Amino acid sequence: MNAGRWVLHLDMDAFFASAEQLTRPTLAGRPVLVGGLGPRAVVAGASYESRVFGVRSAMPMGQARRRCPHAVTVPPRFVLYQALSEQVMAVLAEAAPVLEPVSVDEAYLEPPALAGAAADAVERFARDLRAAVRAATGLPASVGAGSGKQLAKIASELAKPDGLRVVGPDEQEAVLAPLPVRALSGVGPVAEAGLHRLGVRTVGALAAMDLRELTGLLGTAVGTELHRLARGVDERPVAPRGAAKQVSAETTFDADLTAMRAVHEAVARITASAHRRLVGSGRAARTVTVKVRSADFTTHTRSETAAVASTDLGELTAVAQRLARAAVPEGGVRLIGVSLAGLGDDPPPALFAPPRSAPVAGEVPELPAVTDEPAPDADRPWRPGDDVRHAAHGHGWVQGAGHGRVTVRFETRSTGPGRARTFPADDPALTRADPLGSLT
Ligand SMILES: [Mg+2]
Repeated sequence: MNAGRWVLHLDMDAFFASAEQLTRPTLAGRPVLVGGLGPRAVVAGASYESRVFGVRSAMPMGQARRRCPHAVTVPPRFVLYQALSEQVMAVLAEAAPVLEPVSVDEAYLEPPALAGAAADAVERFARDLRAAVRAATGLPASVGAGSGKQLAKIASELAKPDGLRVVGPDEQEAVLAPLPVRALSGVGPVAEAGLHRLGVRTVGALAAMDLRELTGLLGTAVGTELHRLARGVDERPVAPRGAAKQVSAETTFDADLTAMRAVHEAVARITASAHRRLVGSGRAARTVTVKVRSADFTTHTRSETAAVASTDLGELTAVAQRLARAAVPEGGVRLIGVSLAGLGDDPPPALFAPPRSAPVAGEVPELPAVTDEPAPDADRPWRPGDDVRHAAHGHGWVQGAGHGRVTVRFETRSTGPGRARTFPADDPALTRADPLGSLT
């Protein structure tokens, strides 16, 4: 065991929603949902004010809006989140040369200065880090620290929101033991169900299992790794930026595939194979890429990135099949490859899900409802959430549009809550604006 090792996990709090609240100050302190409004849309981000109503990331948007009907729903602005993410990672890179970004809003650090340090020195370091991120971006972040990545990640979840938790070596067993087995990286729904069948529900119970019984259930590699993680033994390195972060599988067919049904079946098999490696590494994927090589050796590639990382085989397979359909050439398929990338750790364990019961809403000032209907004027299709600029009023965002009119709230990060004004949808003083204009 690597005595005296300290790994930190920094996780931005409700990152997408916090970014919206930062740059659109009217939304600060309110329930905010980030995501689309279509029938298949899911929540890409939810502010803490909405989470108390039982809303969480990746939930169908319709369900989220039923649980929290007074929430403001805005479409995601990935350009803005990416810009803020770069600011966060720059702060972290300055603090620790050994840095492993996991996703736009999450990273592991292993500061060399903390090797062998006492818990209170780690606490000071983490407090300064949170303050530096807040100063650079205006956004809250939680930090967890422990003897390895798993404990650091669990600690940051325990610290949320806007908190700090250092799990020292003497308390790590007490912190791990009561957690559900799902809290460990690499325990997906299948492994969880298998463990439950054996009556193993907590990390403590898993740690107490006979290793042979565990490897019999989950295989040697996964079983051995989980047994170690459950006992707080986690020597996985913090891998510096740029490390390979994708798993893939591909098959060359004995005879070219010509029927779409055969292509679909092959894609399902190949995705399942890549998925086994994904789950084995304790991660989730955001980007699915499908490569199709035709009988004449031309290669076509299609890729799709989701707002939220997934470990769901059915979901990833459906995306891969859709991509394959678009990539399949005429005249037969010689090879298909599927890769899963943009890997993040598993979604947060159920333990950390917000309570289901909906508390009574407090005093929430009225905001105009976000309308779903398309603007009638095809030349000026303002949609709620669009960034706009008005010649006289400056930068703002569309709160509602329809019936030939558009309501814009004029505000940016530095203005404080702004005023809403309504214009004819074809007002020539109103133009589309760069979302980054809201950061000023
Ligand atoms: Mg986060």
